[in-house]
Amino acid sequence: MTTYSHSKLGTFQQCKFKYKLQYIDKVKVDVPDTVETFMGKKVHETLEKLYKDIKYQKLNSKEELIKFYLENWQKDWDDKIIIAKEEYSAENYKEMGQKFISDYYEHYKPFNQFTVIGLETQELFELSKDRSYHVRIDRFCCDKEGNYYICDYKTNNQLKAQEELDEDRQLAMYSLWVKQKYPDAKSVKLVWYFLAFDKEMISERSDEQLLKLQVETEALINEVEKCKEFPIEVSNLCSWCKFQHLCPAFKHKFEVEQLPEEKFNLNDGVKLVEEFATLDKQEKEAAAQKEIIREKLIKFSQQKDVSVVWGTEHKVSVRTMDKIEYPKTEEFEKLLRIKGYDVFTINYSRFLSKILKREVDTDVLTQIKTSQTWMVKVGRRKE
Ligand code: SF4
Repeated sequence: MTTYSHSKLGTFQQCKFKYKLQYIDKVKVDVPDTVETFMGKKVHETLEKLYKDIKYQKLNSKEELIKFYLENWQKDWDDKIIIAKEEYSAENYKEMGQKFISDYYEHYKPFNQFTVIGLETQELFELSKDRSYHVRIDRFCCDKEGNYYICDYKTNNQLKAQEELDEDRQLAMYSLWVKQKYPDAKSVKLVWYFLAFDKEMISERSDEQLLKLQVETEALINEVEKCKEFPIEVSNLCSWCKFQHLCPAFKHKFEVEQLPEEKFNLNDGVKLVEEFATLDKQEKEAAAQKEIIREKLIKFSQQKDVSVVWGTEHKVSVRTMDKIEYPKTEEFEKLLRIKGYDVFTINYSRFLSKILKREVDTDVLTQIKTSQTWMVKVGRRKE
């Protein structure tokens, strides 16, 4: 049986190259967590402990829970953990997590709203063709009225919009599993706890929506299984990719970053990039300057009533020409064909000259705009 998960399918949709490295080649890389991921794990472990202990009739006080969080943080902290935002320290993140737990505790104590069925579940939802979907719910609960709750803790600083949650695949797929496993379910509610905002948001799917989601998910899995090409797809998410050192878009950066400064500056790639960038900049500056001079030459030729301006070794001819603009649409191409001007067979320059002489069909002509433009051309002067 092949198992899929929300993150596996998400990786495929984000970047097929990353998917191949992670799930087909199973490349193992020892990349430290980011501090955000580490803090998220510690908060999840603390809330898991809270509810696990409640099952055993042990209600931790807020202080006990925070003590657990802080000790757990201390025990697992590794100085290799990445803190990308230089303006914040590990201490800031630790305190953030502590605040999340404290706010949550005050908001939901004594935690008896629902009955907990499972914590950090590891279940499988069976799909067609011997495939399954991994069901990992932070906290799975029910109430006495027969409603089930799929609860997910979020520790990042982004509060999602309701419409985004109503489209969310992860928890909605889990509700398919709940409906299959607990046919008595009156409703299955998807609940997100945005801990940074002390805010709870809920979504629910109809049976039709869930059926559609399952069909779409299976179609995506078919696409995964048929996939033969695994191109890179560079996006903002690359910053969090642990395979950058193997990725064609980033591996040169990794190679040269290891070099001492003198070797870095002598690296062929580094030198070529700098030369190319310099020339590219000069080219753009020259193009802008050329445009200014072009305008000045047009003005000069008008003021002096001349069509050629003479320099020492070169001359520039300045004249007006007709410019033709027509719609680049399928409808216009169709019209040309109907009127006998087959776009693939006509002599194009003769067609343009007929337009200028207004010798083409009126329906075609009405869609064409003609205007005047300046032609400014440099050549060598011949004595
Ligand atoms: S760095 Fe970006 S493009 Fe490269 S493998 Fe990772 S996600 Fe894909």
